[in-house]
Parts: sequence; C-alpha cells; structure tokens
Amino acid sequence: MDTGAAVGWPYGVPGHLAPRSAGWVPTPFRQFVLKVRSRCNLSCTYCYVYSQVDESWRDQPVAMSEEIVTVTAGKILDHAQRHGLESVEIVLHGGEPLLAGADSLRAVARTFRDVVEPFVSVQFSVQTNGTLMSDRILEACLAENIQVGVSLDGALTHHNRRRPRHDGADSLRETTAGLHRLTSARFRPVFAGLLGVIDPLSDPLEVYESLLTWEPPAVDFLLPHGNWTVRPPGRPADEQLTPYADWLVPLFDRWYDAAGEEVEIRIFQEIMVLLLGGHSRLETVGLSPSTVIVVESDGSIEQVDALKSAYHGAASTGLNVLNDGFDQALRHPGVIARQIGRAALGEQCGECRVRNVCGGGFYPHRYRRGDGFRNRSVYCPDLLALITHIDARVRHDLERARVHAR
Ligand code: SF4
Repeated sequence: MDTGAAVGWPYGVPGHLAPRSAGWVPTPFRQFVLKVRSRCNLSCTYCYVYSQVDESWRDQPVAMSEEIVTVTAGKILDHAQRHGLESVEIVLHGGEPLLAGADSLRAVARTFRDVVEPFVSVQFSVQTNGTLMSDRILEACLAENIQVGVSLDGALTHHNRRRPRHDGADSLRETTAGLHRLTSARFRPVFAGLLGVIDPLSDPLEVYESLLTWEPPAVDFLLPHGNWTVRPPGRPADEQLTPYADWLVPLFDRWYDAAGEEVEIRIFQEIMVLLLGGHSRLETVGLSPSTVIVVESDGSIEQVDALKSAYHGAASTGLNVLNDGFDQALRHPGVIARQIGRAALGEQCGECRVRNVCGGGFYPHRYRRGDGFRNRSVYCPDLLALITHIDARVRHDLERARVHAR
C-alpha cells in the first residue's frame, strides 16, 4: 500500500502554497458528493476506490447513518447561506448507492428537502452501475426528482468486460434490464445520461453508436485514472504515442459532423467553450476552480475521490461533518490547489499554448510520487492532440462562416 506519498506540492513544505495562492478568494462548494454506501456489487478493474492504492474504504461503515445525513444537510445549509448560494447539487454516490434501497434513498432526499430546501434549492442526482434499477427504486427517484446517471462502457458485452461482478460474471444483463426500465416513458424524465470509462482497445464509433441506442440526454467519456507513478492502462511512456486522443478524435469528428445534435458530450462541448474564451463546468479541463467536495459514509470530508488513485489517504482532509464545517475544507491545501487555476500549474503547462483550455488536465492525473501535483497531466500528449484537433475544426468552420457572411 502506498501510504507515504503526501509529500511534494501542495504538501510537505510549510507555507510553500502561500506564494501561489496570494490573492486567491475561496470559491464555495456547490456540488456535494455523498457516499451513501461504501461498498459495491461490481468489481470494475479500473475502479479507483477498490482496485487501486487507497484502501480507506475498508474503514468506512457500509452505510451512511441517518445522523450523518442530517448533520451533513445542516452543514451544507450553513455553507450555502454563509456564501449566499441559491442552489446546491447533491450527488448520491458510492460504492453502489442503489444498494441503499428505495426507502433509504427517499429518506436521504427528504432530509435534505426538510433541512436545506426551505432556504436553498437542491438538485439531486445519483450515479449508479445500473444493476439494481428496479421499478421500486426508480419510483423513488421519480418521486424525489433524483436524476439518474448510469455507468456503462458501451451497450455490448465486450465493451463491459472490465465491469464484472465479484464472482467474475458479466454485469451487463442486469444493467441492460435496468436501462430498459429507466428509458421507459414513465422513468425517462429522471434519465440524466451515461458515463463510460475509455478503453483505448475498443472501437470508439462502435461504443458511441451502441450508447446512442439508449437515446441518452448526455454521455460522459472519462479517462481512466492514473498518474506519473502508476501510469493509466494503455498510456505508454513514449510521448509520440497518443492512444486516448486516437480514440477521442474520430469520436469527436463523428459527433461534430452529425446532422443534428445527437447527444451532449461534455468533454467536447467544454473544450469548444474554452477555445471560444468561455469557462469550463468540468474539473477535467480548463482552469475553473473546483467546487466539488465529498462526504464519506462516516462523515469524513474528503477531496475529489479520484485522488484515491494517487496514494492511500490522498483524498483525506482530516475533517468530519460531526466536528467541522465545509468552510474549514476550503482552507485545506489540496482544495486550494484545485481552486487557484493557473497558479497551480507546473512549468511545462505554464508555457504551453493550450494551457487555458487544457488547464494541466485533471488534478489527480498530475501526481508523481515525491514531488506531488505540480506537474503536467500524464495524459499530456493525448490532451494536446485532442485540443489541437478540435481547435482546427472549430477555427476552420468559423473562418468559413466569416467568408460566407461577407
Ligand atoms: S497539454 Fe500538457 S503541457 Fe499543455 S496544459 Fe495540458 S498537460 Fe500541460
């Protein structure tokens, strides 16, 4: 277990974050990820919670108690009112959150509606592997307006070979049955979209076409987590090779050239917004401050949990909702580092021509044991190739439109 890695930027040297964060004004948290269950019924090979270096899940209670839910709701209300927020987003997460069952999900939502919603609007979502989407659970989601996002790497068995059950059996049959329910006329209003982790060995167009059969409102494609110490699968040291860009570029062209808008693919949309001078809503690209914070099932306040792919305890803040508030988390070095944008970038990113669009990539992907997180992304060659390609396509179309407008 890699436990000794909390050295290097932004940790280790007292005060060395200060020069980079001078003038920084904290941005309040707006998205609160609640780990309502700390265990999962699948055993995905790329899972950063159970399959990588962090083993803190073993110390967590299986379920978030009513007390933790109620205290968390109160602390979120405090934070929102202190910062004048009109709305907050609550993401029910796990492990597998639907292991909680319909009654427990409803109870969590009702607690927030009772405590927070009289003062601050609350949007709920749940991120699930889809294997437990019974009519009863979906009725609860519909009744409480909990938007349902489903993790699925494609609609065919071979796309999902990395998402087995604990006994090794295929999980796609249950997920497919759940998706048939979720996409029925009754439950479609709570269908938020699909989320897939990229397998560079798969055919991107086959994956995309298969996901489109569910007519999702949005599809998110994620890079598997890794860093300079533990490289992501299929990301070679040879910087001339760009297997993830090679996967994403044809997918972008297929999506961009479609006759109408088929689906929202946020990674592409956000890169285009950034190229046109806007701000990203995603933490994975751009320089916008992160506003995501996690509450574990025992009430621990943690940073974005993808950090668990870096080293054991990397997401920890040492805070707990039973004793602390979210404003204290805003002063944690790891949180500050994810809010100061350009000042958190390493030298190579600082000089990079796509710096403002790429933003150095997702913070956990910058980690290198010994010197911390002030590095470029381990996906740097892929990000550069993808952004350069999208930039060329968008510029070409803008120029053509300008000529036609003369
Ligand atoms: S492309 Fe590479 S060097 Fe440029 S900002 Fe992204 S990670 Fe940094």
